[in-house]
Amino acid sequence: MTHKQLTADARESLRALPSVDGLLRLEATGALVESYGRALTVTALRAALDEARDAIRGGEPDQAPGDARLVARARAWLEAALTPTLKPVINAAGVIIHTNLGRAPLSDAALAALQAVGAGYATLEYDLDAGQRGSRAVHAEQMLTRITAAEAALVVNNNAAAVLLMLTALCQGQEVIISRGQLVEIGGGFRVPDVMAQSGARLVEVGTTNRTHLRDYASAISANTAAILVAHHSNFKIIGFTSEPPLAELAELARARGILLLYDQGSGALLDVSPYGLEAEPTVLAGLEAGADVVAFSGDKLLGGPQAGILCGRRSAIEPLKRHPLARAVRPDKLCLAALSATLRPYLTGQTPAEIPVWRMLARPLDEVAADAEAWANHLRAAGVAAHTLAGEARVGGGSLPGTSLPTRLVAIRRANAARLAADLRLGTPPVIGRIQDDLFLLDPRTVLPGQADGLLQAVLAACIGTV
Ligand SMILES: *Cc1c(COP(=O)(O)O)cnc(C)c1O
Repeated sequence: MTHKQLTADARESLRALPSVDGLLRLEATGALVESYGRALTVTALRAALDEARDAIRGGEPDQAPGDARLVARARAWLEAALTPTLKPVINAAGVIIHTNLGRAPLSDAALAALQAVGAGYATLEYDLDAGQRGSRAVHAEQMLTRITAAEAALVVNNNAAAVLLMLTALCQGQEVIISRGQLVEIGGGFRVPDVMAQSGARLVEVGTTNRTHLRDYASAISANTAAILVAHHSNFKIIGFTSEPPLAELAELARARGILLLYDQGSGALLDVSPYGLEAEPTVLAGLEAGADVVAFSGDKLLGGPQAGILCGRRSAIEPLKRHPLARAVRPDKLCLAALSATLRPYLTGQTPAEIPVWRMLARPLDEVAADAEAWANHLRAAGVAAHTLAGEARVGGGSLPGTSLPTRLVAIRRANAARLAADLRLGTPPVIGRIQDDLFLLDPRTVLPGQADGLLQAVLAACIGTV
C-alpha cells in the first residue's frame, strides 16, 4: 500500500510515532541499554517501530502506540532474540534414543565431569607426573580398551567421522568390499557409499539386497583389496529370505587373504539388551571377539554418553588412524572426553543399568512405568482432563534395534483436537513432546526422566484447562 492510499488518520499516526533517538532518551529505555547494550537495544527499538508502522499501514489500529508500548515491544523482542533455540524438552514420546531430541541424556557423573572440567583448566594434554605435555588420547581410551579388551582405541567427534577416518587411513586408493544389503543410509546424510567415495576407497559391491554369501566376498578379493566393510543395518530390517555370513567367518576369510575386516557397529551397545525383553543387538565386544580388526560406533546411542565416535581394535589398525591428518580434524574436545570417561566408568564396575539413563529406561520394569502412568492419569482426571492408561510400545530409536520394542504403559488424553494439544505442549515451557495415535494424545513415562513428572503434568494441565 502506498502512502497515498492511507487514511488521513493513519498518516497522522505514522507522523506521531517517536524517533529511535526520542525513545532512547526515555528512562525505561535506559534500563534496556544497561541490560542488553546500546547496539542491540537500538535494533530492538527499530523493530518495534517497524512493527507499529506496519500495523498502522495495514489499517489495524490507526492510533500510534504510546512510548511505553513501544518500549515493551522492544523488551519482548530482546528477550526473544536472546532466548536460546537449543533448550531442554521433556521427551514423553517413548523413543529412548531420539536423534532429533539429542540422543542419550547424560548420567549424573557425566554432568559432574562436564562441570568440573569445563569450569576451569584440565589435564587434557598435560602429564602431571612428568610435568610436561601429555596426550589427550589417554583419557577415555584406556577405559575403552579395558572394557572391550581391544588392544587400542581412538575417540573422535562422531561415528560418521570414525568411519570416514577408518576408511581414509586404511583403504584410500584401494578396494573395499561390502554387501549390497549394507549400502545403507543411516540418516542425517550418512550414506555408506558416499562416505566410501569421500574416503577415496573404491567400493566393490557383492551379493544382493537380501542375500550375500561368504563366497561372494571371497571371489571379489583382488590384489587391490584393502578390507571388507560390514555396516550394521541398524535402522531397518530385512526379513524373509535373507542371509549374511557371520562376522567370524568374514574375519577368517579376511585373515586368510591378508585384508582387514572393518565393522561399523553403530549403536555402541556394550551390553546385551536381550535381558530386557529386546531382540539381541550385536555388541561391540561380539564384533571384536568375532575378529573384526576395527569396530566403529557412536558414543551417544546405546553407550549412553556424549556425541562421540569410537574406534576399537587391533593396535596395528588403530595406530595409522591416530597418525592420519584427518584425526586432528575430527578430534574430540575436553568436554566430550570428560563426559565419555565418566559414562564409561559404570561399564567397568557393573553399574551401568543403575547409572546410565539410557539403560535405566531400558531396564525399568513395566510395573514401575505403569504405576507412573496410573498416577499421572489420576492426577489429570482429578483436574477434569479426560485421561486413561493404555498398553503401548516404547522404541529404542537412534537407529538401534529396528522393529523391536519394549512394552510400556501410556497415558492417553482424549481431546477434541489432539494435534492442537500436541502443538500447545510443544510450544509450552518446558516443551513436552508426545505422540498422537487414533486421535489420542499419548505420553510415555518410560522416557521421562526422574524429576520431570511435575513439570510435565503442569504443562499438560496448562495446555488442557489453562491452569498452571
Ligand atoms: C548411527 C550410525 C552412524 C552414524 O553415527 P553418528 O554418531 O551419528 O555420526 C554410522 N553407522 C551406523 C551403523 C550407525 O548406526
